[in-house]
Amino acid sequence: MIDERLVLDANAVAGDLAELFGIDLTAVIHRCAHCGNLGPMATLLAYVHGPGTVLRCSVCTDVVVRYVRTPWGTRLDVRGAAELRIELLG
Ligand SMILES: [Zn+2]
Repeated sequence: MIDERLVLDANAVAGDLAELFGIDLTAVIHRCAHCGNLGPMATLLAYVHGPGTVLRCSVCTDVVVRYVRTPWGTRLDVRGAAELRIELLG
């Protein structure tokens, strides 16, 4: 059961993603490994109230990206993203 009051869109964690990947990921296209949905990272559903942050597919709600910060570093799991389309600018 998902408490909808705790769900944000991924724009809420845009700063975290930019820090982790070194670029703004909100417009980057992801493909969900579970259902194949293609869409901008900004459309993922963000769950930020746990010990880590979980980004879920807006179609099937499967986990696409999750990360947690610890005193020793950041643990990043992107196995739910079959693909990230990062376009080069200029
Ligand atoms: Zn999906």
